Amino acid sequence: MSAVKGDLEFKALTDIFEKLELTTKRTEMTALLVQLFRKTPAEVIDKVVYLMQGKLYPDWMGMPELGIGERLIIRAISMATGFSDGVVEKEFKRLGDLGKAAEILKSKKRQAALTAFFGIQVVKPLTVTRVYTTLDKIAKTTGPGSIDLKVKLLGGLLQDATAKEAKYLVRIVEGRLRLGVAEATMMDALAIVYGKTKLARPVIERAYNLCSDLGYVARLLAEKGIEALKTMAVTVGRPIRPMLAERLSSPREILMKTGGKVLAEFKYDGERAQIHKKGDKIWIFSRRLENITHQYPDVQDYARNYIKANEAIVEGEIVCIDPDTGELRPFQELMRRRRKHDIHTAMKEYPVSVFLFDLLYADGVDYTQKPIIERREKLKSIIDETDRFRLAEAIITDNPDEIEEFFLKAIESGCEGIVAKALHQNAIYQAGARGWLWIKYKRDYKSEMMDTVDLVAVGAFYGRGRRAGTYGALLMAAYDPEADVFRTVCKVGSGFTDEDLEKLPEMFKDLIIDHKHPRVDSKMEADVWFVPQIVAEIIGAEITLSPIHTCYWGKMKPGAGLAIRFPRFIRWRPDKGPEDATTVHEIAEMYKKQLRRVEEAKMP
Ligand code: ATP
Repeated sequence: MSAVKGDLEFKALTDIFEKLELTTKRTEMTALLVQLFRKTPAEVIDKVVYLMQGKLYPDWMGMPELGIGERLIIRAISMATGFSDGVVEKEFKRLGDLGKAAEILKSKKRQAALTAFFGIQVVKPLTVTRVYTTLDKIAKTTGPGSIDLKVKLLGGLLQDATAKEAKYLVRIVEGRLRLGVAEATMMDALAIVYGKTKLARPVIERAYNLCSDLGYVARLLAEKGIEALKTMAVTVGRPIRPMLAERLSSPREILMKTGGKVLAEFKYDGERAQIHKKGDKIWIFSRRLENITHQYPDVQDYARNYIKANEAIVEGEIVCIDPDTGELRPFQELMRRRRKHDIHTAMKEYPVSVFLFDLLYADGVDYTQKPIIERREKLKSIIDETDRFRLAEAIITDNPDEIEEFFLKAIESGCEGIVAKALHQNAIYQAGARGWLWIKYKRDYKSEMMDTVDLVAVGAFYGRGRRAGTYGALLMAAYDPEADVFRTVCKVGSGFTDEDLEKLPEMFKDLIIDHKHPRVDSKMEADVWFVPQIVAEIIGAEITLSPIHTCYWGKMKPGAGLAIRFPRFIRWRPDKGPEDATTVHEIAEMYKKQLRRVEEAKMP
């Protein structure tokens, strides 16, 4: 038992740290942790768990970090040992390790001089509570004079530390503890100490998956026992560890693995977001459970305005979109937005939409144990869907061809592929697990379009927002010389300047007809049809198979044509007539070349 009631000597912790450093075997690590937890009073077990990971809180809380630089640590060591900064620095350079330098200097410390200075020699063993609260104070101290205060606080701890304790304290404040103890190992040890049966381990894990805070779980377990964990519910404001998908490469395999029927959803290529709402308060957590709320004031507003439930936890993907056409933009644009310092400019330049795909909690009801179909229905009922905040595109099917067609549609719309979700009654939300209830089906290749193409405008779509009153996108086609027909390849809305856009209605005014032109082959319904005449130069990310565009229809694959993904307008080509446009055969050649490049890239 602990020498200090309700607390633990810091030495008990550092003794274990030292032993943990000598092993990489999980069973040995577990045994050491069991020893430690047995000695640890419930009141401090959370602190022990955090300190063991070299932190004070779970990362997602976004609490201030310790933030002590090398210089200041050197000053604190000097203060605690009586050696000058220069000596500390020399020792640090010699050993290349500030923790070790502290250890050695502590063991040689000028005890006599210090004793003389302080009058009496006080030996006050450090406790976990003192270490934790002092480090917490160091982290939270800000403003003028805070640097000196931080040094003084750390110096005070090092003063009372043994040589070994000093080594680990320095490592913790440097953010370099790195004991390599996985969370799973800590859970094993907690189960052995507090659980009576083997069943305790999954209960602990589930509780952890629901709150992402192992310190909190350990404390609840130590204070209230395993039953308290069993009844632990999700809490708004605490992230739930995300469910992850397995991967397969054919619709047939997917259907076999999921029981014959799936909910197939677009797999959007953006940033995963777990959005928590409690009245007006919103939290947004990333895939790695970082708190990214402040990066998305726009998403906060969507959540506030369009989630009808008072309290909810929903999941979705944040994707950059073209504000005028609503089309999805590539993942790289979201990364560009992240790099911007001024969040409000970034928001305007890179607007986003959220595509929701799950519901974990709503107004007092935990949905994580409910089957997907119930979760999705409830999700739909609590969202006021808008262009900027809506449910992921989805179909329910048991037909492999339909899955394939939906997959092609997803790719062409700018998605990465699809996520197929099992529909049976046991298809719950498996927090923190990668399993077969969700299967991703992505392309296994990626290739760049090398060349531009010249395409004919055969129709247009009305613009919205900034583009109201003009066209938002043009429907573009390649030429098929055999049939003397124009077959569609893409809808282009990006790359136009404001001036280009303004001129569009005037430019096409005399070409408008009230039906699809007889020389145009299109499955897509444009808002306005044109006589094929005006040619534009276009570049895209790549050529893909498409269930919508009619270029080279059925020749590469039954039920599919070819399309250009992420097309951008470059310039008009008044020097070209419609029959001078790139032909469907040329597009097919480009596609085949792309496939060959991919094959070559795969070769060893
Ligand atoms: P990991 O599987 O490790 O998450 P990853 O982060 O690269 O890898 P993928 O495995 O490729 O992501 O796919 C899973 C991710 O797909 C989810 O984490 C989520 O961000 C994203 N996603 C997009 N659309 C959906 C959807 N409709 N349903 C579920 N996940 C989706």
